[in-house]
Amino acid sequence: MKRPTILVLGAGYGGLSTVVNLQKLVGTDEADIILVNKNDYHYESTWLHEASAGTLRPDQVRYDVKSVINQSKVTFVKATVDAIDVNTKKVATSAGEYTYDYLVIGLGFEGETFGIPGLDKYALSIANVNAARQIRDHIEYQFANWSTDDVQDDTRLTIVVGGAGFSGIEFLGELGNRIPELCKEYDVPKEKVRVVCVEAAPMVLPGFDPELVEYAVRRLESKGIEFSIGTPVVEATPEGVKIKKGEDEFEFITAGTVVWAAGVRGNRLIESSGIENMRARVKVDKDMRAPGFPDVFIVGDCALMINEEINRPYPPTAQIAMQQAVTVAKNIVALMKGNDTEEFVPALKGTVCSLGEHDAIGDVMGRKLTGTKASIMKKVIDNRALYMIGGVPLVIKKGKFSL
Ligand code: FAD
Ligand code: NAD
Repeated sequence: MKRPTILVLGAGYGGLSTVVNLQKLVGTDEADIILVNKNDYHYESTWLHEASAGTLRPDQVRYDVKSVINQSKVTFVKATVDAIDVNTKKVATSAGEYTYDYLVIGLGFEGETFGIPGLDKYALSIANVNAARQIRDHIEYQFANWSTDDVQDDTRLTIVVGGAGFSGIEFLGELGNRIPELCKEYDVPKEKVRVVCVEAAPMVLPGFDPELVEYAVRRLESKGIEFSIGTPVVEATPEGVKIKKGEDEFEFITAGTVVWAAGVRGNRLIESSGIENMRARVKVDKDMRAPGFPDVFIVGDCALMINEEINRPYPPTAQIAMQQAVTVAKNIVALMKGNDTEEFVPALKGTVCSLGEHDAIGDVMGRKLTGTKASIMKKVIDNRALYMIGGVPLVIKKGKFSL
């Protein structure tokens, strides 16, 4: 009998974890496992705010896919997926066309701009490792030019961050530490720099524990970061952003850098794949399959699952993506053996939000943490993710150990 082909798209937390779990469960001759990813490296999306601010180098947040896969069981293809058609079971990539017996879509997130004019063109987004490098370089370029301009334009040194969700706040935490270094490096007086976070909702980190939020805001404000709350960004231009302050009241913030961190959607390829979706996310069946397509699994940020206790979707996180991957791998093996699939049940352990290298807030297993304790917990979580994929060697190579 022909061995089944398992085609996994994307080597992010979801796709790569699926492959790592599959290679433990499937014998060498039992299936052809093919992993397709745009780059020959995996990047830690959860560290992108650090690469964006310049507190970590881009090479520190990524590692070779081949270093964690068993190449006697898995064929890695470095290619860009161009189109997915689940009706014909064809996947078009820059390395040719693939078909499959089982497909796993783990192509991750894209920044959501909600159709707000100008954002696609004039704002930068913490979307992947190259986009993170672009943000870092853009900010440095503004500092370097300010220092050499004949007539100094201080708005070059204004950075607007759209969105005070977890990505926005973690990025601000890093900026709070990085700005003093940049000022020193480029001879810029610190008081010339303005960092403004603009949030649409009436609070920072909407829905998170208010006491922890208050701590975070206080710490960030002490580093000079300003907050404009309840004031949605309504337009971006080459000069900056327009924000809505009241019924008919608007303000324009002129800024040399605008970073958009106001939410995510799934990968746009989902929208033309033939699978029903909402903002490129698929409301998956309980066993992580795409409704109506029993041989297609969706993992990570392209999957949408409702938390029935609160009737709202689970937030798209690496934590959930890696847990889903375990179920997806098991369920593919179950289908190969003619067994029943199992339901995915998230085991949420909490959330820790970094505020820079040595500070954080966290709500972990019902315990509130701040400062060094929370920061150590964040590093433990980061190192655990490395361990789950590449074991101790990867933790030694890429882990975070500074306290
Ligand atoms: P991704 O990690 O985005 O991986 C997708 C992969 O697909 C990438 O390798 C990409 O290169 C590849 N790909 C995309 N398009 C193509 C294509 N066309 N062809 C080929 N390959 C392609 N979550 C947490 O749980 N904890 C955190 O602390 C945390 N911090 C975060 C901090 C930041 C700044 C951000 C932005 C997110 C954070 N998240 C965190 C959320 C988390 O990063 C995502 O939920 C997680 O990355 C989703 O995993 P994924 O596998 O679905 O996608
Ligand atoms: P998010 O959706 O969590 O937050 C986006 C924020 O932008 C919200 O506060 C929203 O009110 C605001 N916003 C929306 N439209 C706006 C507008 N027009 N103007 C101003 N503000 C606007 O998105 P995110 O922060 O990018 O996070 C994406 C996912 O990644 C989430 O699931 C999050 O939990 C996860 N994440 C987790 C961590 C962590 O666990 N430490 C860190 C980063 C991201």
